[in-house]
Amino acid sequence: MTQDLKRGMTQDLNGGMTQDLNGGMTQDAKRGMTQDAKRGMKFQDEFRDRGLVQNMAANIRRMAERLKAPVNFMEVCGTHTMAIYQYGIRTLLPDNVRLVSGPGCPVCVTPIGYVDKALACTADPRTIVATFGDMLRVPGSHSSLMEQRAGGADIRIVYSPLDAVALAKNNPDRRVVFLGVGFETTAPTIAASILEAARQNLTNYCVLASHKTMPVPMEILTGDPELNLKGYLCPAHVSTVIGGAAYRPLAGKYHIPCVVTGFEPADVMQGIEMLLAQTLRGESKVEIQYSRAVSWDGNPKAQAILHQLFEPCDAVWRGLGTLPGSGLTIRSEYAAFDAERVLALDVPEAVENPACRCGDILKGKLSPFDCPLFGTVCTPEAPVGACMVSSEGTCAAAYKYGR
Ligand code: SF4
Repeated sequence: MTQDLKRGMTQDLNGGMTQDLNGGMTQDAKRGMTQDAKRGMKFQDEFRDRGLVQNMAANIRRMAERLKAPVNFMEVCGTHTMAIYQYGIRTLLPDNVRLVSGPGCPVCVTPIGYVDKALACTADPRTIVATFGDMLRVPGSHSSLMEQRAGGADIRIVYSPLDAVALAKNNPDRRVVFLGVGFETTAPTIAASILEAARQNLTNYCVLASHKTMPVPMEILTGDPELNLKGYLCPAHVSTVIGGAAYRPLAGKYHIPCVVTGFEPADVMQGIEMLLAQTLRGESKVEIQYSRAVSWDGNPKAQAILHQLFEPCDAVWRGLGTLPGSGLTIRSEYAAFDAERVLALDVPEAVENPACRCGDILKGKLSPFDCPLFGTVCTPEAPVGACMVSSEGTCAAAYKYGR
């Protein structure tokens, strides 16, 4: 680790990394990082410094020599998955420290049945379907939104739910259905769009909601003996909303270390160091490595608007099935904006492609390289499963950076 970086990290991460490093980082690194706190870390590149990351890798290798058995750490955030592949993090780790990708990509965990409902919405020529771009090529049972659009369906890509509200305002004779897919990170923005539509007295805007909440699947996977998980790199974006404290019940009940980790290579490596440090000390607590963005309590305003519009519900996760209390449904007070209620969508049972192994990949039980279709039949240009479509999908990450 360069002295400049050590100096920089100490100041800017004051209250952040330094707080968490007390437990997670080696004495050598801590000594170095506290030598000079005069210069703040200002540039993203500093979190990508090769020397810094290699130094952390050396620390991890030293710590791993003290492990009594191999450890599996899971990341449950698609951006982490992408970062781990992009920066070759696995290649820096010893054989007894393994990273497993979990259900962290919101598009990937959205079941085919939801895509089929979205496709059903496009059948009515009076309807405009508005969506973020990553849903466009996700295969449904028999088609995709992309194929439907090529066939003439009015499907618009938007960059914010408020763009969809504007579409509704500008097209008063049409109904706009926004595809609300995501975790706690996006749910507040979609809630805000419903409030804005209500404020404008728009009666032609509704949301086909498929929001999921994160701690529940982590609990399910923690109890899976086949995975034998020994720690979580907790999702960073989600945690900006729900806060680090949300993982304390999980860590306490299952005695599993949890570290909320950022996305740069130095972040991820430090998150691994912190998990290893807990493992070696026999601890199982929640720590926040990414404290420059995540607090213990999260974002109270985002939480308030989320709970105003949504209530917990059972939700179907691709690969994991129906998980109690793991989803968000629009409250009955806002039923006029709920596409499920407004359109009474009823689609045939979804048809999965039996050759696609997305379900096992989302559970961390299979690597993309184990799927016989990976890189041959299934590519980003011609995806067979959702994990190859989304920019946060494990198969897409492996295709782009891992081959
Ligand atoms: Fe599914 Fe394609 Fe991934 Fe295989 S490579 S699991 S077919 S998305």
